[in-house]
Amino acid sequence: MYTDNHNHTKHFSSDARMSAQELIDTCRSLKMNGVAVTEHYEGDYPHDIGVPQIFDISSFFAESSSWLEYAGDFHLYRGIELGYQKHLCSFYDDMIAKYPFDSVILSNHLYRGKDPYFFRDCYDEDMITVYTRYIEEMADMVEGCKNFDIVGHFDYINRYAPYPAPQIKYDQCPESFDRFLSSIVAKGKSLEINTRSVDKMRRKGIDDCMPDPTILKRYYDLGGRWISLGSDSHDKDTLCIHFKEVAEYLHSFGFTENSYYVKRQRFGEPLV
Ligand SMILES: [Zn+2]
Ligand SMILES: [Zn+2]
Repeated sequence: MYTDNHNHTKHFSSDARMSAQELIDTCRSLKMNGVAVTEHYEGDYPHDIGVPQIFDISSFFAESSSWLEYAGDFHLYRGIELGYQKHLCSFYDDMIAKYPFDSVILSNHLYRGKDPYFFRDCYDEDMITVYTRYIEEMADMVEGCKNFDIVGHFDYINRYAPYPAPQIKYDQCPESFDRFLSSIVAKGKSLEINTRSVDKMRRKGIDDCMPDPTILKRYYDLGGRWISLGSDSHDKDTLCIHFKEVAEYLHSFGFTENSYYVKRQRFGEPLV
């Protein structure tokens, strides 16, 4: 089985319902290789949703030391999911350097400064315009920040999209994808394949739910080899969801490893 690189617990992520104990127990019973806890840290989150979107990192390390004890010989990694905004890059780079994280996911939950989860009006524009601008913002993110390992869910923008065929595709904005994917390769980062996105599409009854083959081929052709699987679980019942199916799919494009991180060092485990 695999390492799941992207998960949230209720202790530090306000939208999660799973406890650390449930996370560890479930991963252990699924015979997974390991699991990373990556709580949300959204500096200057633009919406007031009644609960803070950042947490005290020292408290996280203090509290999670008991989770490591509970996990025993099971591999539990302590990561974080940073919410990108352009003006936060150097703040994040400095902040991350101060703590002993295993892995750092950098994600973009905003489109033109608003989270599409709350503001569906961002989809008032046509699909090509929205997706092109989102991928441009993702490229800005990868180019602008330094201290991270994994580029989170490049397909976040299509999770809540109302378009009839919402899957994001290379051919919708090839120049932007080239800029985005080349910057990941140039910086030696890992492209996350987020299986929560696959699951969300499938639950909506959309058959075309796997990541676009052309995006994956282009990443590979540009030299991209590092892929990280993440279920982005907020509940225990979605841990490593669709991993086997997605791993076999990725393998068919030439990718051989699921990348995971220990003390910010990359390791690979076989995809099949
Ligand atoms: Zn996210
Ligand atoms: Zn997440």
